[in-house]
Amino acid sequence: MPRLMTQRTPSLFAASAAGSSSPTTIEFAVLGSSSRGNASILRVTSGPARRQILIDAGLSPKAVRGQLALLGFDLADTHEVLFTHFDSDHAREGWSKIALATGLRFRCSSRHVHLARARGYPDIAIDPFDAESGGFDLGPVHVVPCENPHDATGTIAFRLETDAGSIGFATDIGRVSDALINTMRGVQLLAIESNYDPAMQESSNRPRFLKERITSGRGHLSNSECIEAVRAMAAPIEPEHVVLLHLSRECNCPRLVERMWQEALPTLAAKLTIAQPFAASGLLRLGSELPLA
Ligand SMILES: [Zn+2]
Repeated sequence: MPRLMTQRTPSLFAASAAGSSSPTTIEFAVLGSSSRGNASILRVTSGPARRQILIDAGLSPKAVRGQLALLGFDLADTHEVLFTHFDSDHAREGWSKIALATGLRFRCSSRHVHLARARGYPDIAIDPFDAESGGFDLGPVHVVPCENPHDATGTIAFRLETDAGSIGFATDIGRVSDALINTMRGVQLLAIESNYDPAMQESSNRPRFLKERITSGRGHLSNSECIEAVRAMAAPIEPEHVVLLHLSRECNCPRLVERMWQEALPTLAAKLTIAQPFAASGLLRLGSELPLA
């Protein structure tokens, strides 16, 4: 059965391709994921050095601080927010104060800077990257961005590479391109959206324009689109963990998703974690095992 992300059990440990002797450890958790707000945390420890990165800031600072505390993390240790895009469920306005008070940086595509400003984020805190540049470093993490269709301004998916292994993170991606599959291939931990069931979408009370926006190829991935994307990304090497993001509360059902995965990709179904809308997950780890605090 898939692990539900409400678990607070001891951290899951998986030896990475780099081997258990690697001095680097990756810890990853989703803090909450739905159309009401999205945020995930990545902490990379390499010897005495540590880098803590928030992926999207679609929950309030208070909510993120609380979810991090449950995991034993401190918001004040966060170096930057890496933004996929600036829809309100991925970029709350309250983060400007945190940035001005703590030096938290906002890392976003140069194509999205005007959207960051529209959220009220101060120029002094914004560090743009060129999504076509092939990558950039955040301390011990090499970030490879990949652009995807989503509404008018698109989103960025990320491959995050470290000595201890790689994480793929893709949400609000409209449709799956060959470039995205190639970017995500071979990661040890893959977090990807599985937004809706088409029949539930169609029979919902949502207005027609919204249904069309979501299913247009510039909105979100359906459950079966997600499964086919992961099938392609998992060849020839399957990830050790798959995390499903951004399930619609109105037009999806975790039990249905579990059944679909057990039928379509049974070996990966056993490695599946379904993110919850308002609860932090258990930590997923790659790399050398950290002593328990
Ligand atoms: Zn979203």
